[in-house]
Amino acid sequence: MTGTPERATCRIDLAAVRHNAGVLARAAGRAELVAVVKADGYGHGAPQCARAALEGGATRLAVATVGELEELRAAAVDAPALVLGPLTGGEWARVAAAGGDAAAWNPEGVAAARAAGIRGVHLKLDTGMGRLGARPDEIDGLVAEASRDPGRVAGLMTHFASADEREGPNAGFTREQAVRFRRITAHLAAAFPGALRHAANSAATLRDPELAFDAVRCGIALYGCCPFGGDPADHGLRPAMTITSRLASIKTLRSRDSAGYGRTWRAPRGTRVAVVPLGYADGYTRALGNRACVLAGGRRVPVVGAVSMDQITVDLGPESTDAVDDPVVVMGVMGGERVLAEELAHLSGTINYEVTCGIAARVTRVYD
Ligand SMILES: *Cc1c(COP(=O)(O)O)cnc(C)c1O
Repeated sequence: MTGTPERATCRIDLAAVRHNAGVLARAAGRAELVAVVKADGYGHGAPQCARAALEGGATRLAVATVGELEELRAAAVDAPALVLGPLTGGEWARVAAAGGDAAAWNPEGVAAARAAGIRGVHLKLDTGMGRLGARPDEIDGLVAEASRDPGRVAGLMTHFASADEREGPNAGFTREQAVRFRRITAHLAAAFPGALRHAANSAATLRDPELAFDAVRCGIALYGCCPFGGDPADHGLRPAMTITSRLASIKTLRSRDSAGYGRTWRAPRGTRVAVVPLGYADGYTRALGNRACVLAGGRRVPVVGAVSMDQITVDLGPESTDAVDDPVVVMGVMGGERVLAEELAHLSGTINYEVTCGIAARVTRVYD
């Protein structure tokens, strides 16, 4: 057993995923919605979220690795699926066997995909991300190899480097990348008539319908997180992940008593301190110690002291009437209060993506 529901539970609201897919499909207009379910659906569970996204309006899926593709197929998720990441050796044949599409950005990749019998190859162009993709001077070689079997080219794609930045020095860069992509693909459309052009991630999709091309690839917003790091509700998105736990132990500390490793917190007054059995090994990062809040009894309660591997301590306050086994919401909504992934990300100096991806496997996933 990895984790018992009594310790900490990660509840996934699949109706929210369906709803968010609908929001994105509408934002995409005529373009298809590719649901990105890599990294186990950003920690939410890939097969479950893939099904919900397909019900909500997605027509295709994307993953990062061949193992992730095989996991979908093993769960009988048979929708068209693209492996975004780099493939090597026998992985090309495994993608073919799983009936997936692959991305390629050099002649070797195109040839390997053809040799393996992969039916759909998506030619990836680097318009400014500076990561995977053919640079401008590499496009001719890529296209020459792909033209040997043009029917196999199912897509022309690129990836935006800063679609989430609506102000600042990078604000105009997405437009620039889109202009480059449009210019290059205009030349290739005749050579690869069946190819779907796709560029937009969640941020680009929500920000500008002009960036949708023929398909959009959305991950973070599918799970109800805001790609701009703000409030998901501003975009009509509903967070799908809720993490709950319980008050496992409550004790009264006197003024100046400390809680946790390193004695980083001292009680400013006599108070009741509870242990919540979830810690950094569950993905509740150590940076949240003395910073974040959890929800207990419908109110915000501060995390005090350092985050331990398996538990945290929270200050319930001197007047607390909370009892052992009372529920705690670590991320989610209780009463009128909420703790968003965006808030935990901000407090720990990261992005919401890393918060949900980081929730460990020992936190039991429950689906409703
Ligand atoms: C992860 C990924 C996406 C999805 O990005 P979000 O910001 O989560 O919507 C799209 N395209 C590629 C190539 C990716 O790797």
